[in-house]
Amino acid sequence: MINIAIDGPSAAGKGVVSERLAKLLNIYHLDTGAIYRAIGLYMYENNIDASSEEEVSKVLDDINIEIEFINREQYTYLNGECVNGKIRTSIISDYSSRSSALLCVRDKVKHLQQDFAKKNNVIMEGRDITTEILPNAKYKFFLTASPETRALRRLKDLEAKGEKITFAQVLKDINERDYRDSHREFGKLQLAKDAVYINTDNYTIDEVVAIIYSKIDER
Ligand code: C5P
Repeated sequence: MINIAIDGPSAAGKGVVSERLAKLLNIYHLDTGAIYRAIGLYMYENNIDASSEEEVSKVLDDINIEIEFINREQYTYLNGECVNGKIRTSIISDYSSRSSALLCVRDKVKHLQQDFAKKNNVIMEGRDITTEILPNAKYKFFLTASPETRALRRLKDLEAKGEKITFAQVLKDINERDYRDSHREFGKLQLAKDAVYINTDNYTIDEVVAIIYSKIDER
């Protein structure tokens, strides 16, 4: 089984790089952020305080997350509904970043991720994949870029979806999420000591893909 683990802050390019690598290697790409986003969406749609362990833990058993792949594309289902089109907004980024800090949420998602990696060849990307979810993965990478570079990338994504938002607001959101993701008690974003660190500021997507690809023996 090939397990490739990639961590990094939001908008570091993990998604697009993993997608291309998965295609080259003919393996799955699991975007774990989509799972946390689906949970954040549930909190948003049900008016639940996403930062409250008490409120969130009460409803966790009512949340069923399923993942399906069709032609390599990941479809994430929240209680039977495909939520791919709903989870990539800035409000859901905020809800998911808050609810994902809770231990009860991380525990729920942990099994789903580990189960998947046991049964499938996969590139799994997120925040704690190299450290907590697949600490024994043969290949580990940490992808990052400056907050400004990432904010610019995220701004383009949001604008393409028709969201009206300024660069300054996106940068502020990114900095806040970075802080939350790397200072929380559980599953925080940190550089695993055996992960390859790649700053993507001055690389194209193709260059990052080539760097990672060159390190995989099973290619
Ligand atoms: O990667 P993405 O930005 O889609 O993730 C959405 C949110 O989910 C992040 O802000 C992060 O807080 C959380 N997340 C996480 N652990 C992961 C993946 C995402 O806590 N493995």
